[in-house]
Amino acid sequence: MNKIIVANWKMNPQNSKSAEKIFFDISKKINNKKNEVVICPPYPFLFIKNKLKDKKIKLGSQDVFFEKEGSFTGEVSSSMLSDFGVSYTILGHSERRALGEDNTLINKKIKALLKSKIKPILCVGETDRDHNGFYLSLIKSQIEEGLKDVTKNQIKNIIIAYEPIWAIGKDANREATPQEFIEIKIFIKKILSILYGPKIVDSVFVLYGGSVHPSNASSFVKEGDADGLLVGRDSLNPDKFLDIVSILNNI
Ligand code: PEP
Repeated sequence: MNKIIVANWKMNPQNSKSAEKIFFDISKKINNKKNEVVICPPYPFLFIKNKLKDKKIKLGSQDVFFEKEGSFTGEVSSSMLSDFGVSYTILGHSERRALGEDNTLINKKIKALLKSKIKPILCVGETDRDHNGFYLSLIKSQIEEGLKDVTKNQIKNIIIAYEPIWAIGKDANREATPQEFIEIKIFIKKILSILYGPKIVDSVFVLYGGSVHPSNASSFVKEGDADGLLVGRDSLNPDKFLDIVSILNNI
């Protein structure tokens, strides 16, 4: 596998007819022999991949609960997701951290996913950048605490997505640059190599996310050396998402 392109649909669209149309439009035209494409719809739309008998796209979820089973109203376990064909789960997204998820909770969820052979996509990123570089210690603790007790054997099944909050969504302050991404990628690899040793760290994918569009996708991969992209808004627009996939195919 070359690169990973993850579609984060968030709490969109509002009905299964629209969700099916977006999934179908992407699935019928996608050409992703080289790269892995993962669509993470809301839970009620996870069935669509199976309904469309799609074989080219991997299924992802946007959350999981860490307990195995039992009296946890409203929650969904990793084995339920795995049974559904989910192979990736986004965790630690800034929108969930804003709702109160902390590194300890994220860590429990990561360990539950690994037991069910689902690959966690751990999102890290700062709200703002400060001149003293305190944002780097925040990213460091998101990684160290998020990966607590994750073993050397397991780390190659973890994907990290660097998503600076200031670059996410339509109200983003500004776009991040490939240079800003590569600096953080090196920083993340350094933290991982201290934790797990330099050899293993080579196999950990570090993705970029935050206002990825067809116009900037190639720069994050070519100049920023991103191992893939996490796409929000443009993943709900089949034409734009397919453009991003084909841009990465041609690199
Ligand atoms: C996101 O929130 O994960 C994201 C990448 O969103 P957008 O692409 O819309 O900035």
